Amino acid sequence: MDKLSIIVPCYNEEESIPLFYSAVSKVLTEIPNVVPEYWFINDGSDDDSLKEIKNLSESDKNVHYVSFSRNFGKEAAIYAGLQNSTGNYVVVMDVDLQDPPSFLPKMYKLIKSGKYDAVGCRRVDRTGESKFKSFLSDKFYSVINKISKTQIVAGVRDYRMMTRQMVNAVLSMKEYSRFSKGIFSWVGFRTNYLEYHNVERVAGKSDWTTRKLFKYAMSGIADFSQAPLNIAVWVGFFSFALSLIGIFFIIIRKIIVPTSSVFGWASIVSVILLIGGLQLLCMGIIGRYIGKIYLQVKERPIYIIKEKK
Ligand code: UDP
Ligand code: MG
Repeated sequence: MDKLSIIVPCYNEEESIPLFYSAVSKVLTEIPNVVPEYWFINDGSDDDSLKEIKNLSESDKNVHYVSFSRNFGKEAAIYAGLQNSTGNYVVVMDVDLQDPPSFLPKMYKLIKSGKYDAVGCRRVDRTGESKFKSFLSDKFYSVINKISKTQIVAGVRDYRMMTRQMVNAVLSMKEYSRFSKGIFSWVGFRTNYLEYHNVERVAGKSDWTTRKLFKYAMSGIADFSQAPLNIAVWVGFFSFALSLIGIFFIIIRKIIVPTSSVFGWASIVSVILLIGGLQLLCMGIIGRYIGKIYLQVKERPIYIIKEKK
């Protein structure tokens, strides 16, 4: 018998929870020799999500939950789920049925074959999403894969099944700022990706605005790449080289035409503004990383539990 832990982050999903449970439990009956262990993580929902989860846990002893004291974000919920899971295989799934449960038997079969340590899923299209959002996502994947050693497959979801060994590796990464797509890739292991077409959520709505996604992407880049710091170094280097040329030019001009110094107010102001701007930009980039260090050294918990069963 294998135990399959199913980790489900939920934030204001009262409508989706029962639909999710019935869809998944139906699919699981198709997989022989597997006992499920559900871990619903209530990420500080304001609606009746927790009540729905409690209802399920009363009727099914395999349903467990962790309820946070407030909204800590999906990454924290995934971490809590992984920490509590006890199965020898673990799968992370969204509750809105955008991660098709019908893939579970195939994922299990692939992972069970021993050829892979993880089976992930990637969307090959983004129908139902705004053009602008898709454009930004595409750019994000191409940028991060250029500047980071941690490669992220385009369109990859958090929906993946992993072996206990890989889960333990993920849990050993205790960073406060968690970017799962990067973490899953960073730990290594052999991953197989299943492809599928985008499915729209079954109920409720996504609270990922373009702004939030952009912030998430920027933070992910800072978590897995130091290239922006190199940009600061190169910008500094080039403006230094340019200023040397400038100084040389000014000295020569002074020697050749001694009265020339009255000219050049506009150029001085432009140079000051340009250098000032570049300095602020570089300080901002460095500040981003310092902020991450600050959060990490405080060692605050990644989440706080209010209730658990
Ligand atoms: N979620 C969460 N905490 C949050 C936001 C979302 O646990 O602060 C959960 C949500 O309930 C869902 C999953 O994360 O199960 C994915 O969220 P969503 O559907 O909003 O994201 P999308 O599918 O648009 O990427
Ligand atoms: Mg969704």
